[in-house]
Amino acid sequence: MYIDSQGRKWFKGNLHTHTTMSDGQRTPEEAAALYRAAGYDFLVVTDHWKVSETFVNEDGLLLVAGCEYDVGRNVRDGIFHITSFGCTETPVCDRSMTPDAIIDEIHRCGGIANLAHPAWSMNTCEQLLPVIDGEVKPLFGADVTEIYNSVSGLPRNCRPYSGIVLDLMAARGYFTMPVADDDTHWYGAETCLSYIMVQAEECTREALIEAIRAGRFYATQGPEISVTKDGDTIRVTCSPAESVVYFTDTAWCPTRADVGHGLTESSFRMTNETFVRVEVTDADGKTAWSGYFGK
Ligand SMILES: [Zn+2]
Ligand SMILES: [Zn+2]
Repeated sequence: MYIDSQGRKWFKGNLHTHTTMSDGQRTPEEAAALYRAAGYDFLVVTDHWKVSETFVNEDGLLLVAGCEYDVGRNVRDGIFHITSFGCTETPVCDRSMTPDAIIDEIHRCGGIANLAHPAWSMNTCEQLLPVIDGEVKPLFGADVTEIYNSVSGLPRNCRPYSGIVLDLMAARGYFTMPVADDDTHWYGAETCLSYIMVQAEECTREALIEAIRAGRFYATQGPEISVTKDGDTIRVTCSPAESVVYFTDTAWCPTRADVGHGLTESSFRMTNETFVRVEVTDADGKTAWSGYFGK
């Protein structure tokens, strides 16, 4: 837990973890011990099609119930992986279900749904905007979406970053809340790399769900950020950074990037943009990601 200058509590957690219960290389107990030792407050074990439980372990780590549901066989038809967070009953899901039906079932069971690694899955905007009963039902109706998935990067993968997918959707008017997580399998380079910081009164399933739904969190690999909107101005305060970049739906924008050494403050004035989100990167190449701000 981290307490900021205003006395608010922040909790650190990984939303996406595999263990020997599916295709991960450590037992659930080993995974919990490893993340606790790295300063995590909560961990979601999301083995494929195996629902984990919510409890506080002997080390004081909150394990939140989770599962990963993967459907679709090929990129052309669409591969969709959805993880759950905090269901209070076991979702009734199977591989014949459409991704939107899985998201609905997670919601029925009181959980949050996370659209996992859309870049790794090579999801297109068309795939993420299915028309159901005559209406577009964006899969970003999942509550959060991974903007960064550690295991999708090196040394075994190549597409960890989904920012372009999220921004193309935002440019069409469909927004999601970006999260970052490890999708831990190998317990190698992907481990304890990407996480979310949640501002909540206490580290319980209920308080975390409420905070995530309210957007009181940010995704990061280390940099601390606070991003607010003041009229047309986006204001950023952060731990020392090398760049603060404003992602928008304008192609040409000369004030988009603030680059320097030890940046701790930055701002951006919105003019013709319909949205802005912020990425802050430090001298070690670690990044933090804000949510979206509309006009
Ligand atoms: Zn997956
Ligand atoms: Zn996974």
